[in-house]
Amino acid sequence: MENVVDKPLIAITGASSGIGEAVARAFSAAGHPLLLIARRLDRLQKLSLPNAVLKQADVRDREALVEAVKAAETQHGPVDMMFANAGIARLGDIARQPPEEWDEMIDINTKGVMNSVHAVMNGMIERKHGTLMMMSSIAGRKVYPDHTVYCGTKFFVHAVSESLREYLSPHNVRVIVISPGIIDTEVLDSVRDETTLANYKANKAEIGGGISADIVAELILDAYQKPQRAIVQEIVITPTRQK
Ligand code: NDP
Repeated sequence: MENVVDKPLIAITGASSGIGEAVARAFSAAGHPLLLIARRLDRLQKLSLPNAVLKQADVRDREALVEAVKAAETQHGPVDMMFANAGIARLGDIARQPPEEWDEMIDINTKGVMNSVHAVMNGMIERKHGTLMMMSSIAGRKVYPDHTVYCGTKFFVHAVSESLREYLSPHNVRVIVISPGIIDTEVLDSVRDETTLANYKANKAEIGGGISADIVAELILDAYQKPQRAIVQEIVITPTRQK
């Protein structure tokens, strides 16, 4: 029987639902201790995963992330992978959308991702070991109607991950960008524009629905488990019929 504490610490932002939750379960089943970060502490607690440090924090709060990493590393050793996953999708017609929705999305999906990877980056450089998984989207490779600023935030993640990959590869740190299509999660709860939501749901139904977050989690675990000298640079996973 494998000793669970021998596996390195994995940090996940947005672990309270959806893809982050599925990834937390997959890495826990593989025997890793976890640092799980989200605003809804009750949802993190409900996961009931062993060897999990739970931190109620907003990814916009840079200091809180640094503190969370320090606290978890004291218990479980260095973070070997950060999954910078937390994000929202305030999709909407750009001319009618309240600008406050862009602000929130830009802050969480871009600066939040930067804050998350930055909280662990220097430790990884020192140790010459580590993996940064950065959540983008298929909407970070091509544009979709009513996704204007959302696409902007996800194209940002693609650009930054490319740059970080070049910067960090001499330090033996891997940077992997995740680009899912429609996955069945709570992400649509953050869409406030009813017409946009109706159109999104109609398109989703037309292509036969989304796919399970567990499939994304399996791919992320598999990419992480490749030898450190090999990198899956990008994971692109969509429903077969999604354009
Ligand atoms: P969910 O809504 O289920 O999960 C989003 C997670 O992000 C939640 O755990 C939420 O936790 C967390 N989160 C949101 N804002 C913050 C914040 N400010 N601080 C900390 N945590 C935050 O949706 P998904 O699992 O689908 O989304 C995860 C990521 O995947 C997002 O970046 C999304 O853009 C991306 N994605 C999703 C796709 C899909 O079709 N589902 C497709 C492509 C990409 P809490 O509210 O508790 O803070």
